[in-house]
Amino acid sequence: MEMDSLTGLLTFEDFVAQAGAVICANDKSYLVAAGDIGDFHYININYGYDVGDAVLCDAADFFREHIKNAELCSRTHSDHFLLLVCIENDDEDRVINEVKRLKTVAKDIIGKRVPGISPNLNIGIYFIGRNDTNIVAAVDKANIARRMGKGNYNLPCVIYSEHLMDLKENSAKILPIFDDSFKNEAIRVYLQPKISSETQRIVGAEALSRLVDPDGNIIPPASFIGALEKTGKIVELDFYVLSFVCKMIRKWLDMGIEPITISFNLSRMHFFSNTLVQDICELVEKYNVPPQYLEIEVTESVFFEAQEIIISKMNELREYGFKVSVDDFGSGYSSLSLIGVLPVDVVKLDKNFVRESLKSERGNELMRGLINILNEIHLEIVCEGVETKEEEAVVNDFGCDEIQGYLYDKPIPTDEFEIKYIRA
Ligand code: C2E
Ligand code: MG
Ligand code: MG
Repeated sequence: MEMDSLTGLLTFEDFVAQAGAVICANDKSYLVAAGDIGDFHYININYGYDVGDAVLCDAADFFREHIKNAELCSRTHSDHFLLLVCIENDDEDRVINEVKRLKTVAKDIIGKRVPGISPNLNIGIYFIGRNDTNIVAAVDKANIARRMGKGNYNLPCVIYSEHLMDLKENSAKILPIFDDSFKNEAIRVYLQPKISSETQRIVGAEALSRLVDPDGNIIPPASFIGALEKTGKIVELDFYVLSFVCKMIRKWLDMGIEPITISFNLSRMHFFSNTLVQDICELVEKYNVPPQYLEIEVTESVFFEAQEIIISKMNELREYGFKVSVDDFGSGYSSLSLIGVLPVDVVKLDKNFVRESLKSERGNELMRGLINILNEIHLEIVCEGVETKEEEAVVNDFGCDEIQGYLYDKPIPTDEFEIKYIRA
């Protein structure tokens, strides 16, 4: 039997051979889990390869010691692991809850080695069917699921289903459209107004992108952000949006119009670049736009890892004069302690969190309390997804500062936006 010399786990070939034998010899249910350590290359680069190796050994120890009913563990290459786990039945919720619990244990164990980073395991799972004997195909499916979940910190793991194959095909369609987009002008920037609760007047807007396919159909972000994040191309998109916004603000200034603050979304992928702050500042200087007219939105889940590095970059951006906001607060495992350490000016409450909270009395109290706390520490609060007058009245009563939602407007093309909201 061949073992991986670093971790002492099985090699891929032995895993496949032994998994086949285990499954045939027993009349039990099994799953294959494929895992990798999120942004492992980043640990190697920042802490050195020795620390990277130690993290891999920690992960191997974790798999050996903490996964009950793990029949086999393998490190196939780099930071990629495989497990064969015996299960009582294929109850997805139970598996997901168990993965959730185990991931917090793993974070503690692996995180000790790399202070400032809290490594996230990406996990894909395939439930092996009763007549499934093709282990290589099962591993492939677990890996497809693993890759689909990468970068989404709200998901403990992804369980393989045929539906994932549709999403994979979607990526194959999106990338060529994006690659041609710069020459075909296939990226559109839309703006959605933010309305002051006090004056009911527009005080800002968020820039949101759309792609246009060759037939002229508008593709929403939900269909392309994932694919662009996986390939790193999201960085180009965000810089395109930022330069578009800078040009527009410059135009307003030249026309003698006092600009409103425009926010744009910055994907987590940017934080792996050492020149992020410099790149943003250079762009803004190129168009001679005062940074106070720009706000940077960073989704809450970005802060679940590499906190120190991200916080220091956000501090630099704030010192330069940008406003910084935490987006989609309340959508994942957010905690109030996060708000305590984040260098932000604005908290944007997630639209689903707002919607769900407003449904029940307890939820209402939760929102009221949260908004109170945020007000006390002098953070600006934006409620997203407000669609009705009733919702507006409630969140305004709780003390929210601004509203962004369909009640006032959907994101609209910039020319329409200028006609409606910007006057000389
Ligand atoms: P987000 O940054 O949280 O943007 C707000 C989203 O909520 C927008 O969806 C907006 O249309 C939607 N929304 C606002 N009010 C309402 C409402 O009252 N009801 C409902 N149902 N929805 C409302 P959109 O434009 O589809 O964008 C989705 C997400 O995609 C954004 O969420 C953002 O995370 C991401 N995104 C969009 N454009 C970009 C971009 O250029 N770069 C990056 N990195 N991410 C982007
Ligand atoms: Mg946003
Ligand atoms: Mg949001």
